[in-house]
Amino acid sequence: MRVIDFHVHPIPRIINEKELLREVEYAGIDIAILVALDVDPYYLEDRRILIKFLEECIEFNNLNCLGVLETVKNILQTCFTSNEYVAKLVKNHPKKFIGLGSINLSKNMSYVKEKLKEIKRLDMAGVKLIPTLQFFHPLKEKSKLEKIFEFCEEEEKIVVFHTGCDPSIWEEPAFSQNANPALLEYYVSRFKKVPIVLAHMGSYSWRYPGIWFDEAIELGKKYNNVWFDISAVPYLLTESKYVERICKDIGWDRVLFGSDYPVVGGSSITSVLNFILDRNLLSEKDLEKVLYLNALKLLG
Ligand SMILES: [Zn+2]
Repeated sequence: MRVIDFHVHPIPRIINEKELLREVEYAGIDIAILVALDVDPYYLEDRRILIKFLEECIEFNNLNCLGVLETVKNILQTCFTSNEYVAKLVKNHPKKFIGLGSINLSKNMSYVKEKLKEIKRLDMAGVKLIPTLQFFHPLKEKSKLEKIFEFCEEEEKIVVFHTGCDPSIWEEPAFSQNANPALLEYYVSRFKKVPIVLAHMGSYSWRYPGIWFDEAIELGKKYNNVWFDISAVPYLLTESKYVERICKDIGWDRVLFGSDYPVVGGSSITSVLNFILDRNLLSEKDLEKVLYLNALKLLG
């Protein structure tokens, strides 16, 4: 059985190169896509931004706003994974890893341009964006996002977009609204040659599993350049209500296996893969597409 894991976080503060390689090999993964995370732990230190953040916190009935603030800073500090670091891992293991760069859209346009140059120089396969941890609204950052899509069109790279909730405060849907796939139609329809992967298929939420699954399906139904990864939501392959809907509206040619390792508490690549192998409701042929063939096609 051949497997490509489309969604792995080589976060240096959580896992080192050796441990990562060991897990990838133990799970029998042929190729892992390593994702950079360009997040800024100092983002909330800007007074205006901080006040807005605390107001939202109070509005959503969170009584421990200062505690939340500390947690968010810690998460951002922990998760930061530079493009350079990901590129270094790829350089050390070129047959095992492919790298995706990351650009923090809460920064200004000249920063975005610099990062695009860096991603080109490091020969990364595409750009990962995460509107939750990077605090941006896709439709309020049109010029920067258009720049990224134009770049990906020209350089034949892909865009991977986090969709759904995220841990900590982002479990509150009000804080994760920017990651609703419905907000991406403008870009998906304008840049039909750029493949855009909706990470987590709009579905990740601890409280409301499948939160924006319908929105992800609708986008995929309308546009062929929309792909999906099932990282953090492997139940999309094991629960009949999801499997039937994907079958009916999208098919299995644009769905990718991903583990989100090591950020989903208590699970490894091996355990996610075993969960899927034991319980999936797909035909053997479709499963092979999801685990391997689709990613191979997408990555050329
Ligand atoms: Zn992830």
